[in-house]
Amino acid sequence: MAEIEVRNETLSELALGDPARRAGVLLPLPFPGPFDYLVPPDMDLGIGDYVDVPLGPRKVTGIVWSDGDGALGRSKLKQIVRRHAVPPCPAPLRQLIDWIADYTLSPPGSVLRLGLRVPDALIPPAPVGFYQSGAPVTQRLTPARRRVLDILGDGLMHQPKELGERAGASSAMLKAMAAAGLIERVERVVEPSFDAPALDRDRAILSEEQAKAAQDLVSRANGFSVSLLQGVTGSGKTEVYFEAVADCIARGRQVLILLPEIALSIQFLARFEARFGVRPAQWHSDVPLAERRRVWRASALGRAPVVVGARSALFLPLPDLGLIIVDEEHDSAFKQEDGVIYHARDMAVVRAQLGDIPIILSSATPSLETQVNVDRGRYHHVVLESRHGSAEMPAISAIDMRRERLSGQKFISASLTQALRERLIRGEQSLLFLNRRGYAPLTLCRHCGHRMACPDCSAWLTEHRFDERLVCHHCGHGMKKPQACPACARTGSFVACGPGVERLVEEANELLPDARIAVLSSDQNISPREVRAVIDAFGRSEIDLLIGTQIVAKGHHFPNLTLVGVVDADLGLHGADPRAGERTFQLLNQVAGRAGRAQKPGQVLVQTFDPSNAVMRALVAGDAAAFYRVQKRERASDAMPPFGRLAALILSGPDLALVSEAADNLKRHAPEIDGLIVMGPAPAALARIRGMHRLRLLLKAPRGINLSAIVRDWVTRAPPPPQVRLTIDVDPQSFL
Ligand code: ADP
Ligand code: ZN
Repeated sequence: MAEIEVRNETLSELALGDPARRAGVLLPLPFPGPFDYLVPPDMDLGIGDYVDVPLGPRKVTGIVWSDGDGALGRSKLKQIVRRHAVPPCPAPLRQLIDWIADYTLSPPGSVLRLGLRVPDALIPPAPVGFYQSGAPVTQRLTPARRRVLDILGDGLMHQPKELGERAGASSAMLKAMAAAGLIERVERVVEPSFDAPALDRDRAILSEEQAKAAQDLVSRANGFSVSLLQGVTGSGKTEVYFEAVADCIARGRQVLILLPEIALSIQFLARFEARFGVRPAQWHSDVPLAERRRVWRASALGRAPVVVGARSALFLPLPDLGLIIVDEEHDSAFKQEDGVIYHARDMAVVRAQLGDIPIILSSATPSLETQVNVDRGRYHHVVLESRHGSAEMPAISAIDMRRERLSGQKFISASLTQALRERLIRGEQSLLFLNRRGYAPLTLCRHCGHRMACPDCSAWLTEHRFDERLVCHHCGHGMKKPQACPACARTGSFVACGPGVERLVEEANELLPDARIAVLSSDQNISPREVRAVIDAFGRSEIDLLIGTQIVAKGHHFPNLTLVGVVDADLGLHGADPRAGERTFQLLNQVAGRAGRAQKPGQVLVQTFDPSNAVMRALVAGDAAAFYRVQKRERASDAMPPFGRLAALILSGPDLALVSEAADNLKRHAPEIDGLIVMGPAPAALARIRGMHRLRLLLKAPRGINLSAIVRDWVTRAPPPPQVRLTIDVDPQSFL
């Protein structure tokens, strides 16, 4: 990411009483900027207010962004229809939206849209009925009626349901009492709110190291700062940053905790509740709409002390945000790869700077970017050296698969099988990790060699045997697995090639017929509830062996889990991704970190065909520092991020010739600036997705250059034709 520059725009208050008042309103649509609207004379309006405005035949909700630029004559302007009665969008958030738009070359309205997806949230909830005590009572009453009056004697308003239950009175009786004037029915709007966390409730007794780390974080509660909280898996990072959370809440400010994945939030929320006695507000795409409305509104009204969410939670209007935590900061899931392409961790740092508040990045294996920021003295470094309590780091060893001589159809080595059996006998649990969904990544005709491929993507179809389907993992295209080969018409000639988690289940069932085995994979069609059911069952030791994709790798804490087997450690190492080594190391380290987190020691077995690879050696030696040193040196000598900067330009379209022409045209207009290199155009690793041909250009620049400005200028000089789409990815993480 580039050095952060905060633009110091002073947005003037709209002049009141001016009959020709205009306001620039930003709409959540891909326009280049705000549009001017007339402010009705009697409307009291300020910057940041949420308003409804006409747009063609529609009515759209937007935000007052500026005074209006006056470009359009007054007679052409339409009037703002309504101002919503919610607090204005906080200034740091408005600045963040502009900042991201500028940085990612996205229309500001598209960025705004990320935080305005529940327009209903602007409408106050419907009033609900309450009862309160009525006129003084002189007549004699039945006991139930007496009880109703006694309860209302506290002078408060009570909801009918609660009142009826406590008094043993039916709703008909309450209505009758109201009709008789004994009690009074009133209607009130109840704004959503989340309970205040109990700060001292289940506070862990921190070790000396933890306490020092916590104090370090708390000491930076004021003003902008970035702290990297680094500690091995199980060292208590969460406990430590909970202290900073508690401190921030105690000062009456809001906290935002970003998690990379929804699946992680299940255990996290339970843990938060155990510590603070309440559930925090939760924000991600799987939260039902009604709840999202509640969370948005409570956030905006300052009635959500803590919000836990995925990357889009960054766009919630938290008026008094006092602390941001980014957990598992190295996780690539923080990068949004479509629409507005942004890195939520980096943008969270920008948000913290704009709001002048601290941010804590937590990880066992921080991204190289963050580590280099520590080296440069821009981020503070808070370190936890050891696991908490008596837990030791697991013993990690590699299994050299070249020596194991498995048949091409088997994937679990004899050594790993032996270790699994031992766990079963001892009543301990095991985890097998393979980052591949489905049964097999390739289906091949034994007779003619035909490979089943996606018609729309340059990708093979993955067999999902449970559903008897072949599925493209890039576009979702699926078909029933055919009986006969479409090329040579032979029946029964298909062979499954390579492993997926479903296939491992089959193999494990053969190897361990007595074991209770379950599979967990990040398939689209699995609900968070199902994930939770499996995780909970594993936590209760109702499952001996859990086989899973990266969904099981992260965050979870299973005290009885003592063996982790990595089935194919080499999987992520191939391809053009400059971060492949770092990613694989982070992922495997994280999976390994699931083992032996309590009293019983953990063991990790890593199956690899390349045990001398730097990633495997570092894993086995447990020497992250050495690994990162080598990675840094390599990246520095290639001037790759974070020592240089990259921007990817991806051209795509149905017509390869047109795409190719547009790419060549861009190349011809490439900026000629010292130190700048333009690579490509070259077919993307995924040369076709959903029928779209894809070509990539990669711009490499020295650090400290304003890459966004250069790219903006470049693409304005060589815009692609309408049939070709241009996607710009500043600081790319994905090289597909
Ligand atoms: P990390 O986030 O570094 O992986 P966690 O915060 O999840 O580590 O801690 C690992 C486990 O150790 C958790 O079950 C946590 O509750 C426990 N733990 C950590 N520190 C303490 C402490 N000071 N007292 C009691 N339990 C602790
Ligand atoms: Zn496809």
